[in-house]
Amino acid sequence: MSLPPEQQRRTLDDATDEVVAAEEVTFDVSTDVLVAGGGGCGLVAALAASEADELTVTVLEKTDTVGGNTALSTGMIPAAGTRLQQEAGIEETAAAMAQDILEKNDHETDEELVHYLCEQSADLVHWLTSDWDVTLEFVDDFRYPKHSEYRMHAPPGRNGEHLVEELRARIERQSNVELLTNAPVTKLVAGNGGVEGVVAGAVREEVIRAGTVILATDGFAGNREMVRAHCEEDIERALYYGASGNTGDGIRWGAQLGGELACMDAYQGHATVVNETGALSTYAVVMNGGILVNERGERFGDESAGYSQFAVDVIRQPSAIAYEIFDERIYRRLEGEFDDFDRAVALGSYHRADSVTKLAEALGCHPDATRQAVRAYNEAVAAEEPDEVGRVEGRRVLESPFYGAKVTGSLFHTQGGLVVDEHGRVCRTDGSTVDGLYAGGGCAVGISGHGASGYLSGNGLTTALGFGRLAGIHARQSLSG
Ligand SMILES: Cc1cc2nc3c(=O)[nH]c(=O)nc-3n(C[C@H](O)[C@H](O)[C@H](O)COP(=O)(O)OP(=O)(O)OC[C@H]3O[C@@H](n4cnc5c(N)ncnc54)[C@H](O)[C@@H]3O)c2cc1C
Repeated sequence: MSLPPEQQRRTLDDATDEVVAAEEVTFDVSTDVLVAGGGGCGLVAALAASEADELTVTVLEKTDTVGGNTALSTGMIPAAGTRLQQEAGIEETAAAMAQDILEKNDHETDEELVHYLCEQSADLVHWLTSDWDVTLEFVDDFRYPKHSEYRMHAPPGRNGEHLVEELRARIERQSNVELLTNAPVTKLVAGNGGVEGVVAGAVREEVIRAGTVILATDGFAGNREMVRAHCEEDIERALYYGASGNTGDGIRWGAQLGGELACMDAYQGHATVVNETGALSTYAVVMNGGILVNERGERFGDESAGYSQFAVDVIRQPSAIAYEIFDERIYRRLEGEFDDFDRAVALGSYHRADSVTKLAEALGCHPDATRQAVRAYNEAVAAEEPDEVGRVEGRRVLESPFYGAKVTGSLFHTQGGLVVDEHGRVCRTDGSTVDGLYAGGGCAVGISGHGASGYLSGNGLTTALGFGRLAGIHARQSLSG
């Protein structure tokens, strides 16, 4: 479906039009728990709320399919102390998992909340697998950077689409849940006592009375105006790689009702999306020794700083383009190991040449300067000294035959949003909560601190599924007494 253009561009300043007073509307229908957004957070929240048979739950998804960014992700859920982890012979505490998250974000997030989400992570996985028969396998052959232990629990194919498909199927079995697509929530309805419902509908709007509203509308990476207003300069020019529906709607509505916002500058980017094919060139190419140059054939920063924060450095190069250079040894090492790499190969993303000069000619960067950049890099690696951009990590001497791709920086998702408590209730600056309003996933403030560097792999689903479940449980308990 094509989304209403004005919703794609609204900013926090426009939010006044998006919250209407209860006395100004007539309710058409009613539900107990209204979930706005049918991604990972929304689907999990709906399942948790539906566990009280007497409650009705309605999930409204703006686009024509459920899944959002959750379907685009690997679907891997980080959790410490699970049965699957123990069966693999690993004993990990929630505190150790929290430590990794806090070290990565430089302790810029609410430490208590991070610890709480990590303590809840094993229950989340057990609840999904045992109570809802969701298929998750323990991943003990690949550890993400800065994860001090194996802790990922993956759906089949390590693909978020499978996770979403199973969650959707479980929801459809619940007779007390209604799930509608092409059904954007356009406004919140609020009275003196808090949130009373929503206005929704793409063609014909309905006013729905709700006992509670759970905002699961993700962040605002699909809204260039909000990205420009809140994130670091230039990242708004990056290719948007996430779901089209994520335009910051729930964040604006919650803020309009007094909800506190935090870390609105936080986002996850990716530095190496192949320009010609749109494929992700896995950052394992770089971390195994590949380098990036600009069209002048110059290195422009330490690529090993991380794929997220290096995205904006790529965007700042001429034509927002960089050229990834690696060699056959790296190619062979990654082949068959990384789905993203194999997919990029299958799409014809990489050029091959016997010399750096020929590769650069094929790619379009300056041949002599690129050859010089590779030579300088190789000399520094051989001498075990920092290279011209100060890089010391993940290097190797590059040798013929060479491979390369023309790449650009992309924006995956934002991580700032509404401040919530341990139940996912939206909080005001004075610590009170907005009655009847919950938020989770990318709509709530994440656990990645500020900017692009604090994101630890898995943080997205930790907050989406973690808060989705906690909000669903609390909404259920408060409504069913
Ligand atoms: C390419 C990519 C790869 C990623 N890989 C990983 C990964 O491997 N691990 C990880 O942890 N995280 C990953 N992430 C991040 C992760 O996917 C997200 O943090 C997480 O899925 C967010 O879940 P969510 O439910 O909050 O939002 P989503 O899953 O995005 O769902 C939000 C839904 O709300 C809908 N919506 C928005 N506004 C409205 C409205 N007004 N009315 C009704 N519906 C609305 C949207 O259309 C969307 O379907 C990745 C993100 C991307 C883009």
